[in-house]
Parts: sequence; C-alpha cells; structure tokens
Amino acid sequence: MAELTPRERLFEICDYGKLRGRGLRALISSKPGDNILESIPVVFVLSNNVRGQCCDMCFTQGCDLQRCSKCKFARYCDRQCQKKDWKEHKIECERILRVSPNVPTDLVRLMARIMQNKHSDDALCKYLSQLVSHHEQFGELRKDAFTTIITVLKHFVGGKDFQKFSTAELFELFGKISCNCFTICDAELQPLGIGMYQTPTILNHSCYPNCVVTFSQTKLLVHATEDIKEGDELTISYTELLCPSYQRKEDLRNRYYFECSCTKCLSSLEEDGLMLSLQCSDKRCCGAVPRDLAVGEFSACNTCGKSLLDKTAGTKADTIILKSEEALKDIKTLEKSDDQQGVLDIAERILANQRGFFHKLHYIKARILDKAMDACINLEMWESALDFGLQTMNAYKLYYPINHPSVGIQLFRIGKLQVYLDKLKDGLQSLLEAEAILKTTYGNHALVQELQEMITGTLEELGREEHNNRFQGLELI
Ligand SMILES: [Zn+2]
Ligand SMILES: [Zn+2]
Ligand SMILES: [Zn+2]
Ligand SMILES: [Zn+2]
Repeated sequence: MAELTPRERLFEICDYGKLRGRGLRALISSKPGDNILESIPVVFVLSNNVRGQCCDMCFTQGCDLQRCSKCKFARYCDRQCQKKDWKEHKIECERILRVSPNVPTDLVRLMARIMQNKHSDDALCKYLSQLVSHHEQFGELRKDAFTTIITVLKHFVGGKDFQKFSTAELFELFGKISCNCFTICDAELQPLGIGMYQTPTILNHSCYPNCVVTFSQTKLLVHATEDIKEGDELTISYTELLCPSYQRKEDLRNRYYFECSCTKCLSSLEEDGLMLSLQCSDKRCCGAVPRDLAVGEFSACNTCGKSLLDKTAGTKADTIILKSEEALKDIKTLEKSDDQQGVLDIAERILANQRGFFHKLHYIKARILDKAMDACINLEMWESALDFGLQTMNAYKLYYPINHPSVGIQLFRIGKLQVYLDKLKDGLQSLLEAEAILKTTYGNHALVQELQEMITGTLEELGREEHNNRFQGLELI
C-alpha cells in the first residue's frame, strides 16, 4: 500500500463525531489546484465493460493488448504489466478458467481478490478493520442482491477457499466495499474499474466540496478546488451534483447510510426551485419560473415577474420528470450495447416533451441534452453535438462547484467541436475556460497537456487566418 503525500503534514485524521465518523482536517491552508494527496489502490479490478480496450494492470487504453495465454481473459500492454499483475492474477486465472464461459462480475472479482489476501496480509487486514460497513442496516433488497452475489462468489472462489469465510463476514465485507469503493474513471470521466484506497476513503462527503478526486490510470489524485484554511475539513462529493437536494440525499442514504446536512442541503430551497424551473409563459421572455418547494407551486418569473397561468403545470412537470428519469435508465442500457442511434432517438423524444415547458436550467433537461450530445459525437453528427452541448452549459456552470471536472470536460468537448467546425474564436474561448478548470482538478495530467497543445494549435490557426484576412484586405485596396 502506498500513499504519496506531496507536501508533509498537509492534513491529519480527525474524529468528527458519531454522525460523520473519521475525516481529514487541513493542517495548513491550500489554494485551488493544490495537490492534496495521491494514492495507489489497495485492491482494484478493471471493469468487464472495458475489457479488451484497456490493460488489466495499468488501465492504459490500447488496441494491441496481449491476452493472458492461460485464461485469455486478462489483457496487458506488455510482459511488464502482466508480471506486475501476476501475484493477484495467478489464483484468479485458474478460477476464471474453471468457471468459463461464465464471466465473474467486477464486484465478485474484487471481493475474491480481497478474500485471497485477507488472512495473510496484515496491512490489508488493518485497513479493512477500520472501514465502516453498515451491513446491519441493509434493507431486504440489498440483502437479497447480496445473497445472489454470494452464490456466484462461492462458485468462483471454490469450496475450500470459500469456507474460510462465514456469511456474516462476507456481508460485512460487502458493506465495506459498497461504502468505501471508488469508481476509477478515465480523464473524460468514463468508468474503467473499481478500487479501494487507503487515505482517500477517510474523506467525508459534502455537496459543496473543497476537494475533488480524479484519476491518472489507477492512481487516485485529490486536488483542492476551493481556498482551504487551516482547520477546515477536506471534503469530496460522493454523489451526482446535477440534481435537486432530495435526490442527492436519497442516493447518499441508500448507498452510504447517512443524512446529508452540508451547507448546500441545509439551504437548498432556492437552488432546488431553479433546478425544477419552467420556461416563462411569455414567449419573448427567457426567464425561469422556479418551483416554490415550500408550497409546491411555481413562483413568479425571475426576469419579468409574470405568474404562471396554467394551474396543472405542477402535475404536468412531475409526469415529464418521471418519464425523463425512466428515459435516462433506458439510455444507460442502450449505451452498454453501444446503440447510439437508440440513445439519440430517446433523448430527442424526451427533449420534444420538455420543449417550451422546462427552462434550460432544469436539471433533467441538462442531463438529457448531455446524453444527446454523447450520442451525436459517437454518430459523428458534429453540428448537433455542439448544439446540444452548448445548451447544457448554463446549468453546468450554475449547479456544479466552481472547479468541477464535469464542467471542464464539457467545455473541452465543446471547444474541440467548435475548432473542428471552424468556429476558432469560440473554440479558443471554450478551451481556455476548460484549461483553467482542468489544470485545477487534474494538475499536470496528460489530458491537460493534450488540451494545451490544442490551444496552441488553435492560436496558430487563428494567427494564420488573421494574416490571410489582412493580406486579402490589402489586395482589395
Ligand atoms: Zn499496462
Ligand atoms: Zn490469466
Ligand atoms: Zn448535501
Ligand atoms: Zn418572464
């Protein structure tokens, strides 16, 4: 287990009481972009969803990966990566062969990797003993789901090794993984695998965090996104932030068993109202009509002050939100099977339902627009992708914290599209905005270097264009 702290004594582990448990407290002040912590995973697995596209050991994407000659399941960049993984993969390799053609899920593989070392590795044992599990609070649904997983796990691990663990022990381990596991993402925030980390697991949640987690291959990076003062608690977000507080709270309750009482959740009425806002009934006005959640109705337009006339708007809005949430689930399934046209069809249908009704600051409108943008990029429909992307920006900039990778990545994608479509000045603007955010959240990452190269290229092209324009101007004179 390795932890690399860039500066000595940057934080200390602190007890924040019964509700929050352990957390990290800053010992010195930090500025946005400061590197707080880097951490190598204690245990990790590559997701089956990207198997064949990324190395099982270092997660680097490659088209020339070599299969493990025994199981033909694991794939590596080269001999070096295979050698590094062999200690973990050795036992797994035989198990994969034995259960083939069945393929273990990511969670089963992660659990098996922990189980194979748990009794022999003291550091791992100590690490696991300090994690919260909440397994006593499992609801029936979760218990059922885990009972099914145990059956698969037993088949995968095999009788003799499996019997070393009691069901109670496995339930506890499952709880610890669910509450402490990180989804390892690539620089564009696409999930690549799951992993558990030592110190980062102590970071508590806030819906308005002062730090952010990103990854460089399997290494977890923590950067400050806000000014942090000595004594402040370091926080990250465990949940999606582009949704109203009641959804965030529900997700946190279901997955992590706590009630969020961060400053944002404590004074959430105004932002939630805007996230559910309708378009002003006056077609000439671009204002938002926020929902007043205290009374359940809509307030006056925030621009012209006009009130809504339609008394059924609330019910109508609820129906469309429900439909849109369903659509997002369908889109997730279609994305897994790479049916991009299917994704775009659903997104366009829902956007037609929302058109003229939901304001552009409505959270679910932004979520669907983002899916439509993804699909268009995959279908190489650049103009439409840009159009959808630009429509998400108001909501992204308003609801995500100031330095959030989702905003940076969205601006980078928009910038690339603009440059590709020869809208160089707009493109440069988007890329520069993206750079400011991504430098803060990723530090000196390959992604930032790629972005900076694109900025240099765009500047050169703009210079050439200007030169040509001037030259043509002279000819005209
Ligand atoms: Zn590799
Ligand atoms: Zn193998
Ligand atoms: Zn909160
Ligand atoms: Zn208005």
